[in-house]
Amino acid sequence: MRSIGAGAAGLQLLLKMIRDPFFKEKSILVLDKDEKSTNDRVWCFWELDETKWGQIATKTWSQGLFINPEQTLDFDLEPYRYKMVRSANFYLHTKGELAKAENVKWVKDEMVEVNDQDIKGSSVNYHADHIFDSRIPPTFHVKQDDYHSLIQHFKGWLDR
Ligand SMILES: Cc1cc2nc3c(=O)[nH]c(=O)nc-3n(C[C@H](O)[C@H](O)[C@H](O)COP(=O)(O)OP(=O)(O)OC[C@H]3O[C@@H](n4cnc5c(N)ncnc54)[C@H](O)[C@@H]3O)c2cc1C
Repeated sequence: MRSIGAGAAGLQLLLKMIRDPFFKEKSILVLDKDEKSTNDRVWCFWELDETKWGQIATKTWSQGLFINPEQTLDFDLEPYRYKMVRSANFYLHTKGELAKAENVKWVKDEMVEVNDQDIKGSSVNYHADHIFDSRIPPTFHVKQDDYHSLIQHFKGWLDR
C-alpha cells in the first residue's frame, strides 16, 4: 500500500489504518514532497464533546461575540465548542503515532507520475498493490467553470 500526500486526508486515513487489524500485516509507505514539519495551515471546527483533537487544539472557544453597527451580541456556544488545531501540531502528533507502527515508512519524495500500481518518484520508482493519492487532480481546476466557486476570506484578530 502506498499513500501519496501526508496532508489532512492522507494522515487521517493512515491513523485509521494503523488502528485497524486488517492492515497489521500490510506494509505501508507514505510519500510526500514535504517534511510536514512547519505550520502550513490552521484548522478550525465545531465539536460537541471533548475528543482526541481536543488534546492537540491550540485554542478552544466557549464564547462568541458578534458585532455590527446596530448591536453587540455576547453569547454562549454551549453545547458546542469552537476549536483551532495548528497543522504543525497535527503533523507532529500523527508522525508520533505512525512511528509506533512497525509497518509504516515515511519517505520524502516528489511524485512525477502515478499509474494504477506504479509511481514514478523524483529518482526512485515505487510499486504497490493499492495506491491512495490524496492530491487534488489537475482536472479539478481545469473544470472549475462547471461549479460555483466560493472564495473564503477571514478577517479578524488573534487573541494571544
Ligand atoms: C488558510 C487555510 C485555512 C483553512 N482552514 C480550514 C478550517 O478552518 N477548517 C477546515 O476544515 N478546513 C480548512 N482549510 C481547508 C483544509 O486545510 C484543506 O481542505 C485540507 O487541508 C486538505 O487536505 P488534503 O489532505 O486534501 O490536502 P493537503 O493537506 O494539501 O495534502 C496534500 C499533500 O500532498 C502533498 N503533495 C502534493 N503534490 C505532491 C507530489 N507531487 N508528490 C508528493 N507529495 C505531494 C503535499 O505536500 C501535501 O502534504 C483551510 C485551508 C487553508 C489553505
